Amino acid sequence: MTLGDSGARRRGGRARNRARRAVLVLGAALLAATACAGPGGAEPGPERPVVGERAERPVLAVRYEVPAAADRPGVRFLHERRVMRAAEAALGSLLDWREREPTALLTRSCAGEGSSYDPEKRRIELCYDEIAETRTALREGGRRATDDEVAAVLLETLYHEVAHALVDRAGVRVAGNEEDAADRFAALMLLREGEAGVRRVLYAADGWAVLAELYEDDPEGAGEGTDTAGGGHAGHSSDRDRAVSLRCYAYGAVSASRRHLLGLTGPRALPAARAAGCADEWKGVREGWMRALGPVLRTEPPVVGSPQ
Ligand SMILES: [Zn+2]
Repeated sequence: MTLGDSGARRRGGRARNRARRAVLVLGAALLAATACAGPGGAEPGPERPVVGERAERPVLAVRYEVPAAADRPGVRFLHERRVMRAAEAALGSLLDWREREPTALLTRSCAGEGSSYDPEKRRIELCYDEIAETRTALREGGRRATDDEVAAVLLETLYHEVAHALVDRAGVRVAGNEEDAADRFAALMLLREGEAGVRRVLYAADGWAVLAELYEDDPEGAGEGTDTAGGGHAGHSSDRDRAVSLRCYAYGAVSASRRHLLGLTGPRALPAARAAGCADEWKGVREGWMRALGPVLRTEPPVVGSPQ
């Protein structure tokens, strides 16, 4: 059983579940025949530097399943944008994984199941289909998704699932709702990239905002925006709240003089009452996660041959 975020969590997964549930069950059954590339697949892996006598180990061990025909463009996108490599490098710069087995990450055609962390298989599953689904959802929301936006949504999804893996496999303990904590970890990973990360957080927030407009404001879809209300995996906040929280973290992470330039004002502006607390909120989020990561936090830079 997949406990992570199956079905309802993802943008496209949720949209597709609404329209094509019966088809998806059949589709999943037909997807049995798959073959896997080796670790790292066709995408170049990150450098595996050695620090002292203990070899560096990657946080993620990525395998690429052969995609369903419809997902081939998505796989090409993953490789061309080096999404996995970016994530591996970012995680490796934060976490010390020398004493641990890499976390399995399987990228696959999920036929609408949605990306997830599977605690029984102890692996993350990231769905190719969400690439096309993200583009579709944004288009239905009245905007044409750029590759940067789609990559940002994927990275946010991946980091969210990595947070579940950290809780399950690395003994990381988080306060409160794990789903909200996983969203905060995704924000932490993205915002560590500086202003490029701010843009990515805002793209991811835009994705949630579009889903909220498409489904949470739709009387027929009332209740499906929150997985607790919709009968899906319990614990996620509503899409609207997820969008607002991500924007708040970005707002709080950016100096006042840069907010306008980074698009944190205008259409994306937070309610003034919420914005006023975002600097403190983000500080608390960052410090909370860094504290939780203590046992697996890197204390030395990942530089080849660096002295201890
Ligand atoms: Zn989750």
